[in-house]
Order: sequence, then C-alpha cells, then structure tokens
Amino acid sequence: MFATRFAPSPTGRLHRGHAFSALTAWHAAKAAGGRFILRIEDIDPTRCRPGFDARILEDLGWLGLDWETPVRRQSEHLPDYATVVDTLERRGLMYRCFRTRKEIMDAIGDAPHGPVEAARPGPHPADEEAQLLAEGRPFAWRLSLDRARDLLGERAWNALAFVEEGEGPDGERGLIPARPETAGDVVLARKDAGTAYHLAVAHDDALQRITHVIRGQDLFEATHIQVLLQALMGWQTPVYRHHRLLTGEDGRRYAKRDRSVTLAELRQGGLDPRTLRAELGF
Ligand code: GLU
Repeated sequence: MFATRFAPSPTGRLHRGHAFSALTAWHAAKAAGGRFILRIEDIDPTRCRPGFDARILEDLGWLGLDWETPVRRQSEHLPDYATVVDTLERRGLMYRCFRTRKEIMDAIGDAPHGPVEAARPGPHPADEEAQLLAEGRPFAWRLSLDRARDLLGERAWNALAFVEEGEGPDGERGLIPARPETAGDVVLARKDAGTAYHLAVAHDDALQRITHVIRGQDLFEATHIQVLLQALMGWQTPVYRHHRLLTGEDGRRYAKRDRSVTLAELRQGGLDPRTLRAELGF
C-alpha cells in the first residue's frame, strides 16, 4: 500500500517551505488512497529543542492535515538504531573516528577533496585507536565505503540505484544510479547521539514501510547514501519524489532563519489556512 511521510526535525518553527513539503506528501497519500505518516526526527541533541514537536503538530493541524497515530519520535527509539549500529559493526562495515570536525577540516585543508561532509578519514592505526579507547575518548562510527563495496561486490555496487519520480536539483529523473562515494564515509553514529540522520531515516523508512519518500530537493544527495544503507541492511528501497524548493519573493529559499514566515506567525496574523494552501498551489 502506498505510504509516504513528512519527517521534520524540531529545530524551529515550521515555515512555508515545510507547509509545501507536508502538503505535497499528504496530497500524494490522499490521491493514492494511501497512508500519510508524520515522523519527528529529533535525534540531534544540539539542534532539537523541547516543545517544538508539539508545535509542529499544532501547525500541521491548523494547515488541515491529518496523520496516523501514534507519531514516531526518533528520540524514543534509540535502541532500534543501536541495533543497526551493532549489526553494521559486527559485519565490519564501520570504523571508529575520534577526530573532531576541526581535525578533519585541517587534514583536508584547501585540497580539492570537497567538503568536510564528504571526508573519508579512514580508520585510526590500531595502536592509536587502542590508546584513545583506553583514555575513554568519545568516538563516532563512520561507514566504510571500501568495506561496503567489498561486501556487496562490484556488480551489486554498480547496480545500486533508485527511481526518481520527482526531480533532482539538476533535473535528474527516472532510474538514477546511486553514487554513495560523493558523500564520503558518513557518520552513522554521532559521538553525542549514538545514531545519525542517514541511519535513523533509512531504518524508519523501512520499519514504517514507506513506499514513496516525498521530500525537498535539498535531500536528493542524501538518497545516494540511504540507498547504500538499504542494500547493506536488506531493506526495500522506496521510490523517491524530490520536489522543488519553495522560494520567497526575493528568490531565496525559505529557511528557519526567515522568522517572519513561520506558520505560527501567519496564523497569528489571521491568515486563513485555505488561503495559504491555495497560495502554495493546493
Ligand atoms: N528530518 C529531515 C529534515 O528535517 C528530513 C528527512 C527526510 O525527509 O528524509 O531535514
């Protein structure tokens, strides 16, 4: 059965961009006679703030959406993600990374290796790792692309792909070959959270039997790594529909920093949700 989701992180109030994304997914579910799931992605202890999840529900309710209950809050399911981390670790697919972001940036320098997010720092030498562990220093788990490639084999690696029914930022659609190497050895378990975005999202999309991931084009690149995780864990790859990002009158995309456009403020200003829906094309 068709199932899609809207998966906001409670790091601030929702704005028009979120409303557009949520409405796109909700209408797709209704049109297909399928399920619409709301998932709160609150695993980032530095960015998520208490209370914002309740406000998200309030804002979406005002907008006229409904969703299945109970709503999954990722922070309440950390043991689920720990199990995945264990599995990947046991299969030798991850390595410990004690480095700080700054150390990784310094190592990359201005060399043409791309952004720090795409770093592939590699495992520490065994003696160094033993020492750091003995000192009780915190570490993250990174996915080893080399190990993943070895485990899957060249054929399966080259066959990694997903179906794009929407459009990527460069007009990508149809069957897209997945290129996880562009993301680097991503962190799958943060030092402070025991899990990380890609792992929690891929796990929950599988658990909740999401058939269609409908989300903004800003997450198109993330799909490449999530498809690899699905292959490694034996999870079904959903169909993806990335949608364009809404831009304001100045042509810039909506972001939480544009405080004036939060749904809460529009509501307090007396805006009728029907007007907003119409304005967003629904
Ligand atoms: N929680 C993510 C965000 O708010 C979205 C994850 C997703 O849709 O895959 O950016």
